[in-house]
Amino acid sequence: MQKEALELFRALLRIDTTNPPGNEYDAAVLLADTLAADGFEPKLIDAGPRRTNLVVRLKGTGKKPPLLLTAHLDVVPAEPSRWKHPPFGAVIDDGWLYGRGTVDMKNMAAMSATVLRVLKREGKLLERDVIFAAVADEEAGCALGSQYLVDHHPEEVRAEYALGEIGGFTLQMGSARLYPIQVAQKGMVWMKARVEGTPGHGSMPREDNAVVGLAAALAKLVPDALPVHPTPALASFLEGMAATQPFLTRTLLPLLLQPKLADRVLGLFPDRSTARAMSAVLRNTATPTVLRAGSKTNVIPSHAEAEIDGRSLPGQRVEDVLREVQEVLGPKVTLEVLRSLEPVEASHATPMFQVLCDAIRRMDPAGVPVPYLIPGFTDAAAFARLGTTYYGFAPIVFPPTPKVAFSELFHGDDERIPVEGFERGLGALLDAVRTWCA
Ligand SMILES: [Zn+2]
Repeated sequence: MQKEALELFRALLRIDTTNPPGNEYDAAVLLADTLAADGFEPKLIDAGPRRTNLVVRLKGTGKKPPLLLTAHLDVVPAEPSRWKHPPFGAVIDDGWLYGRGTVDMKNMAAMSATVLRVLKREGKLLERDVIFAAVADEEAGCALGSQYLVDHHPEEVRAEYALGEIGGFTLQMGSARLYPIQVAQKGMVWMKARVEGTPGHGSMPREDNAVVGLAAALAKLVPDALPVHPTPALASFLEGMAATQPFLTRTLLPLLLQPKLADRVLGLFPDRSTARAMSAVLRNTATPTVLRAGSKTNVIPSHAEAEIDGRSLPGQRVEDVLREVQEVLGPKVTLEVLRSLEPVEASHATPMFQVLCDAIRRMDPAGVPVPYLIPGFTDAAAFARLGTTYYGFAPIVFPPTPKVAFSELFHGDDERIPVEGFERGLGALLDAVRTWCA
């Protein structure tokens, strides 16, 4: 099983599915052919030219509702000159498999297809259908992938629970080995900010220059500008993590849930990237990313605009984020929502979550599973619209040394996965699916 999973994984990695343009067709066909060889009847669903989704189903008795395994086939761009090995070469070096998509997330595509093949060969009728959806377009916002399937083919992917990306990997915290399982993710509120001014000649400075007005407002939008709102998902994550830590850390972590103390506690974190990641799940955030104003050095423009990438915590609405950002930017700035996506939050008090925790403990007896809130968004938002409970569970075991942070591999240079950690992850996914569906 491990050998054919690794073979399929490497074949998927060699197919360039950089999005844009995505071009997921070849990867979907490879999966379809592989599954068809085992007697499956995979369906290829195009959402655009060569923007292909694959859905396949292992039929059970139907006594209990289906389980969905899901992975996106597209990847983000890679700059080959910054990589040790070619990003689409699938090279194995010293036990590590290199390639764009090794952790985000062709690993899950290869694991899911393999789990289906193994279960089918075992020939035991399960109580649930197991569906595998390999989707396009996640990295560009999911429109031609999970959103498309949910809108146009809901019956193909409707399930009680879904297992997908971001969760089940080793997060080394001191000597503790945590395994975050995503139960919640932030929403998205992309905004345009605009300041009006009086146009004029650049030789005559004026106090209502739109460029200066916008710049001054945006300068106030520092990383901790918006207030802290503790959420249940973060509280459970911190509680689980604190229990594994030495006295000082164990005492400090719960203080992050106190809005007045949170930023001071974050200031004590020795590692800035951890502090930044933690800050982002404590609050709604708003990051200015695009600036637009003027076209000529000697002309004061009539207006200046910025795009702001806003993210909302579970429990927060679009208007809550707008209000908080408006308060920081001040009354001269007008805000308009460009695009939004609801946050997603699932309970971790479910029998399925227990099954996942047990599978993690069998995979890594020293491992501690914890519920997890992620600052970004995934296909979870689309599948949640069908009433599906989505957990991030694409298990990988990372060795304690060399210390490699999963979060830095994501979209990073030299994206890679330990081959042994992939194989143990595959075992855990099979274990969880078998337990849940038998
Ligand atoms: Zn991803």
